[in-house]
Amino acid sequence: MDIRALGYIAIGAVDVGAWSSFGGQVLGMMTDTTESGVLLLRADERPYRLRIRPAAEDRLDAAGWEVAGSAALEQAAQELEKAGVGVHRDPARARERRVTDLVAFDAPDGTRHELFWGAELDHVPFISPVGTSGFVTGPLGLGHVVLATDALDEARRFYVDVMGFRLSDTMTLGGTRVVFLHCNGRHHSLALGEGRGPALSHFMVEVNSVDDVGYALDRAVDHGVRIRQSLGRHTNDGMLSFYAATPSGFSVEYGWGGRVIDDATWVPTETSRGSYWGHRRPPRPAETARQGS
Ligand code: FE
Repeated sequence: MDIRALGYIAIGAVDVGAWSSFGGQVLGMMTDTTESGVLLLRADERPYRLRIRPAAEDRLDAAGWEVAGSAALEQAAQELEKAGVGVHRDPARARERRVTDLVAFDAPDGTRHELFWGAELDHVPFISPVGTSGFVTGPLGLGHVVLATDALDEARRFYVDVMGFRLSDTMTLGGTRVVFLHCNGRHHSLALGEGRGPALSHFMVEVNSVDDVGYALDRAVDHGVRIRQSLGRHTNDGMLSFYAATPSGFSVEYGWGGRVIDDATWVPTETSRGSYWGHRRPPRPAETARQGS
């Protein structure tokens, strides 16, 4: 299977209004709302990169993965069926996602994925409502998603052997294993961590400059957004980033300076530290109170 990039993330959210101000005023993306109340967050010249639908509970609806064209999509569907994974073809869903064609399936870990090709470009210039200079997308795709799974080894086999992701590196932090996978030059577009799954742990978006990260951190603080991890620099992908809580509970990593790797020279390693510096977890309010008393 020849997946080229993470194309989009579709989310079901209880509070789409909160997402609208979070997406626009904190993340710095352009916001648009459809007639059916779906929030579209734009980061480049595609109509959206994050699609947020009103829902009764907060959830990852799907990660959308881009393939090179119709033949690649057909081949991917056949490979999924050969692996015993049922695929759903849904022209209405493709129109809704503003792509030419897509197939949806549930991975063995329970995560819903969509494979698509032919994304619509509407060429509206990206002008951030808060002055973010721009997001790093293009051939590197939107960013990355990190999924929690109860069965890491089984999930890893599926994403590598069936979906064709390539191993970037592995990490064990506090006894929890994480596997980092790539499908283009971005160090990882997908990571799998041991935990109660299926669940989206966080997604990452990358901006053009270190100042874009700093301004976003200020905006998050000013808007009362909970910072889950302070500014820091990751070891494996070199990303300088912070983590904030989204209105749906999972985190967003907001970063700059991610490593671009070349399969011709890259070798996977075992990373023993997640960050060179930073990425500290602020104490929870209750802990703060206890410490203060
Ligand atoms: Fe990350």
